[in-house]
This record gives sequence, C-alpha cells and structure tokens, in this order.
Amino acid sequence: MPTVYIPTALRPYTDQQASLKVDAKTAGEAIERLVEAYPKLRAHLFAEDGRLRSFVNLYLGDEDIRHLQGLDTPLTENAELTIVPSVAGGTSATQERIPLSVIDEERLQNVALTQEEVVRYSRHLIMPEVTMEGQRRLKSARVLLVGTGGLGSPLALYLAAAGVGTIGLVDLDVVDESNLQRQIIHFTQDVGRPKLQSAIEKIQAINPHVHVIPFETRLTSENALDILRDFDIVVDGTDNFPTRYLVNDACVLLGKPNVYGSIFRFEGQASVFWAQHGPCYRCLYPEPPPPGLVPSCAEGGVLGILPGLIGLVQATETVKLILGAGEPLIGRLLLLDALKMRWRELKLRKDPNCPVCGENPTIHDLIDYAEFCGIRGEEAPTQAGDLPSITPQELRARLDRGEPIVVLDVREPFELEISRLPEAIHIPMNEVAERVHELSDAHEIVVMCRSGGRSAQITRLLQAMGFQRVKNLTGGINAYAQEVDLKIPVY
Ligand SMILES: [Zn+2]
Repeated sequence: MPTVYIPTALRPYTDQQASLKVDAKTAGEAIERLVEAYPKLRAHLFAEDGRLRSFVNLYLGDEDIRHLQGLDTPLTENAELTIVPSVAGGTSATQERIPLSVIDEERLQNVALTQEEVVRYSRHLIMPEVTMEGQRRLKSARVLLVGTGGLGSPLALYLAAAGVGTIGLVDLDVVDESNLQRQIIHFTQDVGRPKLQSAIEKIQAINPHVHVIPFETRLTSENALDILRDFDIVVDGTDNFPTRYLVNDACVLLGKPNVYGSIFRFEGQASVFWAQHGPCYRCLYPEPPPPGLVPSCAEGGVLGILPGLIGLVQATETVKLILGAGEPLIGRLLLLDALKMRWRELKLRKDPNCPVCGENPTIHDLIDYAEFCGIRGEEAPTQAGDLPSITPQELRARLDRGEPIVVLDVREPFELEISRLPEAIHIPMNEVAERVHELSDAHEIVVMCRSGGRSAQITRLLQAMGFQRVKNLTGGINAYAQEVDLKIPVY
C-alpha cells in the first residue's frame, strides 16, 4: 500500500505517527484516508473551502504533485507521498549546471596568500577542486551570517577554519545557559555576554587571518539592505519567520545568494535560494504558517546536534559557491529526518507568480515582516492586549486566600516532569477541545503553559467556546518560577 509521510509539525494531530500506509489509488484518496484516520489533521491540511492549504504541499517521490496530476495523481503500490509545507507551482526547474562564483574577479586579483597561510591551508591547496586559486577565492570572500546561534555556531567555526577572509555577524542576543546545548561557539563562561563578543573571540582563536565585521543589531527592514549589500553570500541562521522572509526579500532585491537552513527537533531542511538562478524562499513558502501552527525551537525543542548537521550543509554550500565548484543546492530542498537518518531531496521550482522574484513582482521594497507573519509586535503571541490575564503573584495570592480557581496546565506530559504547580489540573493543549466537558464554568479558570503562548491560544479557544471567566497566566510557569517560587526550574 502507498505510504504517506507526516512532518513533525503535524504529528501532534496523528498521535505522533510519522507515516501511515493507506489503501488509496490517487494522491487525493490517500489524503482523504489520512484525515479519516486522524480527523484533527483536516483543519491543518484543508482550508474552509475544502482546498489544500497553500502552505501545505504534497510530493510523490521527489515531484510536487502540482506538476503531475494534482490530487488525481495515480499512486502505485510502493508510492511514497510526503506532506511538505508549501512549494509553489511553476515552470520547469533550473537544471543548468552553473559554474557559479560569487567572487568579484577584480577583488580576487589583489588577494595573495602569505607563507603562513599556505602552510595552514595546505590540505586544501592540494585538492584539485580548491588549489591556490580556490584558497585565494575563499580569502577574498565576504560572507554574512545572520545569527550566531544554533546554525551560526558551526557555520562560523568551519567557515573561519576554512579560510573565508571576511565574515560578517549579525546578532543582538546575550548568551543564555539554555543556548549551550547546541550553540557550540559559546562556552559556559560566556553566559551573560553578548553573543557577538563570544563568537568573535572563538573565530579569532581558530583563525586570526579572518576579518570579522560585527553588527550588534537585529536585522530590520530599515537596515537589512545596507548590511547585506557589501557581502557576496548571505547565510540564513535565523529561527523565526519574519527575519527569514526579510533575509529572502533583501537577497532577491540585491541579487545575492541566500544559503538557507532550518531545524526542528530531529528534522532539518537546507537549500540555496538565488533568484537569478532558481527559486527563492517565497517560491517555497508563499505565505508563512499562521502564528502558533509551527512551533519555534524555544517552544518545540531541537536536538542539540541537529544544527551542526544542517549548519554544515550550509557551510559546504557556501564554500562551493565561493569556489564555483560542484552543483549548488539551487532548485533542490534537502530534508533530513535524523531519527531515521534519512536524507531526502525534493525538486523546487521557481514560481512565475512569486511576489518578489516572479515575472511581475509586487514587492519592490522591504515590507513590515512582523505584520506579514501575523505577529503584532514581538511579544504579541504571549501578551495580546485584549486577553484577560493574571500575573504569577496575583495567582499565588488568590490561591493562598483559598479562592476556588481552576488552574489548567496545557503543557505536554513530559514537561510536567520538569516543573509543575501542585494545584494545577492537566490537559495537553491538543486535547482541550475534545475534553472540554471536564471543565466547568462554575469557577474561574487560569490557563498556563511554559511561557504563556500556548495558554493564550487556549484561553481564546475557551472564550470562543463560551467560558466567561478564563484568564491566561502571563509568562507561564517560567515566570511563576522567577517571580514566585525560585525552587522551580526554568526551562
Ligand atoms: Zn520567489
């Protein structure tokens, strides 16, 4: 029977099943069998009018079914159908083999290696794909890393070691203890220090020949073009949708290649977006998923090693672009499932209707990306103004006075092993709708989660279901731990 593969982000609706064998003759029937088996999935795959949502797409093998016969595409007995968040349709893929080099030839003329550098890079120099000229290309290259976190750490370390001459770093964050599990450029002693400072020290220690240009700022619509302009390649190590669209659009507008990577739990993706030669990120994801559908690393977690695997794919692609060697990952999306240790490759096509790189683009300037992604201000998902809420201190005081409040913890069971409130009852967020009969409107309900985002969604859900007295615990159990009970660990 054909198999349907389900991405991690949708597995909360399939009882964590990663794949399902279905008795189906077409792609459409397969999806119908899937949502019959897991009814909760329907709302995530189909819009209200019954069409497949535009940020969801189906691949048969490595082909987008839109380029086959859509939902009528016939399936063989061994067919493998993969659900992949949106890839827009379009014309044929760019298959030209491109000896692309991003390096300015004039700049290259003026670059030579010192004797010391010749010794340092000798294992490169004897490779026919690199040689003295390739190493000079690396030295003359200017690469911008957006973020020095999970992906940015291995990228910075390896690109510096390989001899990339100029590395730009954009980051405003400070090293946090919870970063150390994966952001290997930062050490325990760096906790509390700016990530930029910490990263520059490590890069210089590995290779003092590298020139580092730090940008201690967030990338914004106002500064992005100015920051990106002087670099040959931009490497996207961001962890949020607004910055990812910003990086993409700025790269398209400036004609720069954008080396993309993203990670979630045990899964990763990588590609090279370069609008002159293939699709861009918007051709892949025309629109962001609604806020809350795809959790971030902070919400969903990530295996500490995974950014190493994906970041080094990005580093490899970056070096290939600089050398003009091999086949770049343009027009191809690499998917990694580390639990199965399975790499898959999907074809990506340029979307002629892409709003930024298509035939009649409608985006000619950087826009407001927070608004585009449905996020009103940075704290919007956790602190919406119209949401009834209660602070941790208030909750404690009222519980201590013996007020009959129902505290509803909507986190996953394994999170309760990290921290919990003895007063709370527990219903994981995905089960609240079907177990709502366990709640009563007789008492006030305070909904809580880790940091206030999921509980805000459930507070709204309960309001919509008619609960009059429901409040969100601001900042979740982590805020409670910091403000009320220091013995509770923050995670
Ligand atoms: Zn595009």
